[in-house]
Amino acid sequence: MERPPFLWGAGTSAHQVEGNNWLNDWWAWEQAGKVKEPSGLAADQYNRFESDLDLAQSLGHNAHRFSIEWARIEPTPGFYSEEAIAHYGQMIDACRRRGLEPIVTLHHFTHPLWFAVQGGWTSPTCVDSFIRYVGMVSHRLGEKIRWWVTINEPTVLVFYGYLDGRWPPGEKSFSKATRAQENLIRAHQAAYAVIHAQAKQRGQDPPPRVGLAHHMRCYDPCRRWSLSDRLSVFFRDRMANRSVLKACRTRMDFIGLNYYTRDFIHGPGWNSMGFLGTPCENPQHHPEAGPRTGMGWEIYPEGLHRVLTSLKRWRKPILICENGIWTPDDNIRWDFIRRHVEQMVAAMKEGVEVAGYLYWSLIDNFEWADGFAPRFGLVEVDYATQARRIRPSAQQYARLIRKGEL
Ligand code: BGC
Repeated sequence: MERPPFLWGAGTSAHQVEGNNWLNDWWAWEQAGKVKEPSGLAADQYNRFESDLDLAQSLGHNAHRFSIEWARIEPTPGFYSEEAIAHYGQMIDACRRRGLEPIVTLHHFTHPLWFAVQGGWTSPTCVDSFIRYVGMVSHRLGEKIRWWVTINEPTVLVFYGYLDGRWPPGEKSFSKATRAQENLIRAHQAAYAVIHAQAKQRGQDPPPRVGLAHHMRCYDPCRRWSLSDRLSVFFRDRMANRSVLKACRTRMDFIGLNYYTRDFIHGPGWNSMGFLGTPCENPQHHPEAGPRTGMGWEIYPEGLHRVLTSLKRWRKPILICENGIWTPDDNIRWDFIRRHVEQMVAAMKEGVEVAGYLYWSLIDNFEWADGFAPRFGLVEVDYATQARRIRPSAQQYARLIRKGEL
């Protein structure tokens, strides 16, 4: 069988670029003044997707990741918007016309407001609600889709939404966080089954590939000699990196990997809750750490190699769904991409099966609680005029793709 082409591209998510997503929980959170600034019109991509996809095509991409906004598809429980379904159908067709393989995410941090009001991921009906939506999308659009990401970064959603409280629903409860995580895992597993069952029923051949996008970090001890730091690293790696994969391993056709950085972990001692330790900000504790991005994240390309090789044991293809940087210096962005791709290639030479690399993100977008200041895009957005400007790093990335030296 012919090997499918390596997927090169970039991603976005609905709420971060579409604009006017007033039916979801993030919009309500923003209106309640819980974040720096509201998403408003964002990058107006709901209306500008054709020209944004033209940009992706002009940059040599052959894949594009985007998400479907659940709140648009199902604005009230059990009522589906034909307009929204048609919109996302057009978006998929628009990708295909440009030779971009659509990588479709069903859930990227946002929920219909009604779902949030019903209790979000801790409600007893949450999995059923999600599956009803997934079933509808798969029924109406599934024959056009070969790559599905069910849920983006469940562990990040649980952390910010249920432990740290910075994101909706703003909970700070260990027991709610545990329940939410269990439900998100069940939701992924059930979505996997529904998508495959429907694809089989309509005789889709080859069958679609279904996975989730998992956020993984490298962890190292703050103080190499400290047993407590090393133990915290071990537990963190287990909890944050491995537990979701372990729970979902039989229901994943590929591993979607989102990799950004490494954390140095300071063990807290032997108190019962604190076994995960805390990320340590003091640079004197880890002099070997590299420079940091605008988000304060260490630039650590070797970590991508470490994470990729650690995933080999699951024997699944890996799709790098996100890897990106906010920096005011675009030369640093290109350097970041080049060095991460190098590490990816090194891992592939060691036998790790990587299906593609999707930079985060195609265009500047609304960075959740941090608002519009962070700019991750290959393409700059002038939010006053909605004008787009291709950054030099995007051109360099395009050259790398065209050379295709893997
Ligand atoms: C998320 C994106 C976000 C990016 C940069 C990822 O965790 O999936 O939505 O924009 O990180 O923070």
